[in-house]
Amino acid sequence: MTEYLNHFIAGTGVEASDGRRIALVNPVTEQVYGSCARGTAEDVDRAVAAAQRQLEHGAWHQLDGAQRGRLLVKLADLVERDTDVLADLDADAIGRSPLEPRRLDVPNAVANLRAAAGWANQLEGRTIPTGGYFGTKTLSYTVREPVGVVGAIVPWNSPLMITVWKLAALLAAGCTVVIKPSEETPQSALHLAALAQEAGFPDGVINVVTGYGAEVGRALCEHPHVAKISFTGSPEAGREIQRTAGVLFKHVALELGGKSPQIVFDDAPFDDALRGCALGLFANQGQVCAAGSRILVQRGIAERFAAALAEAARAVKVGDPREPGVQMGPVAKKAQFDRVNRYIQLGIEQGASLLAGGVSTPERGWFVRPTIFANANNEMAIARDEIFGPVGTVITFDSEEEAVALANDSTYGLAATVWTTDLARAHRVAAAVKVGAVGVNCWSPLDANLPWGGVKTSGIGREGGFGGAMAYTEEKVITVLLPT
Ligand code: NAD
Repeated sequence: MTEYLNHFIAGTGVEASDGRRIALVNPVTEQVYGSCARGTAEDVDRAVAAAQRQLEHGAWHQLDGAQRGRLLVKLADLVERDTDVLADLDADAIGRSPLEPRRLDVPNAVANLRAAAGWANQLEGRTIPTGGYFGTKTLSYTVREPVGVVGAIVPWNSPLMITVWKLAALLAAGCTVVIKPSEETPQSALHLAALAQEAGFPDGVINVVTGYGAEVGRALCEHPHVAKISFTGSPEAGREIQRTAGVLFKHVALELGGKSPQIVFDDAPFDDALRGCALGLFANQGQVCAAGSRILVQRGIAERFAAALAEAARAVKVGDPREPGVQMGPVAKKAQFDRVNRYIQLGIEQGASLLAGGVSTPERGWFVRPTIFANANNEMAIARDEIFGPVGTVITFDSEEEAVALANDSTYGLAATVWTTDLARAHRVAAAVKVGAVGVNCWSPLDANLPWGGVKTSGIGREGGFGGAMAYTEEKVITVLLPT
């Protein structure tokens, strides 16, 4: 199938202003299967103008929270109707099994849209008692207003779900948006925009400009009429965005990478912990921000646990995810394939024991074998850096204090998992780890009502939950003089 994708601006498909295109490449076959518009600053300008018109004067501006909520419910229904279409779009673009987005990403997106529909008319202000104004009584109250036009910049690993985390919340708050999907995965954002049109969202509320980060992303960050940048992606790009958008005093929310620990105590439910660690390593080929790639195991069970994890890795069937029985496809792109292999090579050179997998050299397609290292330490590159591939590093610890110290000895702080049957210890460790989200005996639970985000190099701000919608509002205070 040849795909020819354009921007979606003010309700219509639009070519790039200079006509240039970006090739889309299939990670299984390495063949070009289509192209998308290579956006320019001029395209961004056009999309922001459409978004701003709706925000300030358009039909969208006239809607109250309940009316926005009704549109969100309709969009949720349409996304649910197109579950298979959307799951296939996301899966095919990065060589992932469509079963994963069908079971997780799309239902999560639907749940987020429905939850946000409920928040749309609950974004309330406060009344605040004060001492009055030079002896005269006053009434002070606050209102929550939409922050403005949002630039939503999205990565390739879970494109629909991450786009909807931003979209549902910002629409609930009354904002309008220019979405910049990853240059590798523009499909589902464009389909989503078309569904929003079908649901009845006024043209210009949701715009999509496809293209490169250095071109479209940068133009959004520098645009004078973009009030907030909501970014999910790598810390490197996040740093650059903080520089460009931050100096212009835009709101900046950053959901960045991770090197999340899975802490397995010797009293853990062994099989559950094993399944949870394997899931946290191999779901979406390890291309998950919350991937539990640092597996800290208490000495008493470390050898047995690492061996079982290696066996689980060897049992994963790698291949074309469209073939029956295949559990893992290739990584998403050539640069990612080279990066993962480079780290596996580094792990070997730095002295970790390779229990399963290793450097991969497939004839065709960017396939990486699930890889497990043991006898590693927390100083090794495979323990410190986000690899974003199916590579797990097992590190042994003796005491709870050591486990917490190892977990916190990371520049990242996105998520952590604690595996134990000791209730008090579970709460102690959950309190002590410096991350944005902790799972106890479950890896990375996601729910539309829960906040998501990290600390340290893992980012700034939270998405999801009621707070996620509030983050797209500004608080305005109004004081009325009440002379007697
Ligand atoms: P990336 O940073 O390369 O790209 C992400 C998006 O930003 C893309 O759309 C890209 O075009 C754009 N971009 C790149 N440079 C930019 C710039 N200078 N200015 C503006 N936009 C720019 O990341 P990626 O490779 O697409 O995704 C992988 C990363 O995303 C990993 O680090 C992963 O952990 C992270 N991630 C985090 C979360 C989370 O919720 N915390 C979720 C998914 C992925």
